[in-house]
Amino acid sequence: MANLDPSPATATAAHPDKGAAAPEHRLYAKREPVFNRRIDGPFRRFKWFVMVVTLAIYYATPWLRWDRGPYAPDQAVLIDLANRRFYMFGIEIWPHEFYFVAGLLIMAGIGLFLVTSAVGRAWCGYACPQTVWTDLFQHIDRLIDGDRNARFRLYKAPWGPSKIARRLLKWAIYLAISFATGGAWILYFADAPGLMRDFFSGNAAPVAYATVAILTATTFVLGGFLREQVCIYMCPWPRIQSAMLDEKSLIVTYKNWRGEPRASVKKAEKNPGQFGDCVDCNQCVAVCPTGIDIREGPQIGCITCALCIDACDRVMKDIGRPRGLIDYATLEDCKREQAGEAPRPVWRSLMHTRTLVYSGIWAAIGFAMLFALGTRARTDITVAADRNPPYMLLSDGSIRNAYTVKLRNMQNRPRDMKIALDGLPGAVMWTDDMPREKAVRDLIRKVPADTTDVVRLYVVAPEGTVPQEYGFTVQSLDEAAETDRSDIRFEGPETSQ
Ligand code: SF4
Ligand code: SF4
Repeated sequence: MANLDPSPATATAAHPDKGAAAPEHRLYAKREPVFNRRIDGPFRRFKWFVMVVTLAIYYATPWLRWDRGPYAPDQAVLIDLANRRFYMFGIEIWPHEFYFVAGLLIMAGIGLFLVTSAVGRAWCGYACPQTVWTDLFQHIDRLIDGDRNARFRLYKAPWGPSKIARRLLKWAIYLAISFATGGAWILYFADAPGLMRDFFSGNAAPVAYATVAILTATTFVLGGFLREQVCIYMCPWPRIQSAMLDEKSLIVTYKNWRGEPRASVKKAEKNPGQFGDCVDCNQCVAVCPTGIDIREGPQIGCITCALCIDACDRVMKDIGRPRGLIDYATLEDCKREQAGEAPRPVWRSLMHTRTLVYSGIWAAIGFAMLFALGTRARTDITVAADRNPPYMLLSDGSIRNAYTVKLRNMQNRPRDMKIALDGLPGAVMWTDDMPREKAVRDLIRKVPADTTDVVRLYVVAPEGTVPQEYGFTVQSLDEAAETDRSDIRFEGPETSQ
């Protein structure tokens, strides 16, 4: 049975000094340490699951390998800043395809809107890095110092050898986790095994050490000490979310019409029918990782982790009352329930207009990106004309334009590519590495794997050629026979017209 006796540490919300008079008119309230109690239940188990999955993804991903052949890195997920590439398993994004990354970010944003409109601050409660690392550090607290009451006693105890030893041990574990967190981050930006070796042998780039130092410090401070303060004061997302929630959004709610007036089990037994279901045991407050009392209504400190639901359901079970005094519910459903109607199934709450619209937009962008990814060519040409001078009149009266052409071979094998002039009758071209006498209308370049070949091209057109639009085409000379085209304007004297 759950502990329903309000001991000093459990009866006074989360803060041992709760009874002390709080200074008024202060810009920033003094932090009240949170000693949240261990709890088990479906939502806690789901939180465990999300924590293990997200941490495993974060720490393990840089070590996954993906064979892309001999000319490309074999790290499954790699942000290769030096070569300006982003690799994600079978997908390789080049700088000129950055719109895919923009699309992913837009999808992430809309996904967050979708989650918020459907299940309130579920992101905050389960998957936000601040939540995940804070949760992890709170488990370390329990491991080293014990559960809520033991931690409270230790907090109040004077500094002595035992307290110092526990604190040092705990902070050392915090530091190790924080270092692993910062360390894992840089592995996304270079070959993980190689960077690891360089890092510990002192041969990594200074920026790698600086990044690890900064991320270690921020994880240590934000996860180990500031914790719920980040959610309540520092993060802008709760403020944005408040504007996005409406009466159709699922939030964690205390059903006050059912719980009030509160009374202890003994008092309620002595006066049947006079009190609500809340036995004022404070278990919902004791398990809350942000130390708030959900019975005071929806508030910015609630990250909707639902641990208070687990705690209260357990109390209700122990005293033989129906579960759900604290529950996920929409404000609309609360009104219905209060009016005596049966609660609607959760899936009905999820199917409202805003959620469906967000889902539609999210899926449309996703399908468009998949389509674009599936149909994109791995051959690309861009042409930039010289601006100064835009053209040259040669001694024989012909007109010359000069260009910088970028030929991209986005396959991980070398390929021959044919560049050709499309339009501009009578014109021929040559490059820096061939004589003008051998100028042609199409030429072949060997482009190494996964490389941009930058070539200077000169196009000469017969005397009297007027300024006009034409194009360069490129075709890969392999079985794929991919093509691309870049339109450009041929410049010449206007008087020729
Ligand atoms: S809401 Fe539930 S857990 Fe919270 S004090 Fe009341 S009975 Fe206890
Ligand atoms: S009030 Fe409940 S749902 Fe909100 S943060 Fe606390 S335990 Fe989580």
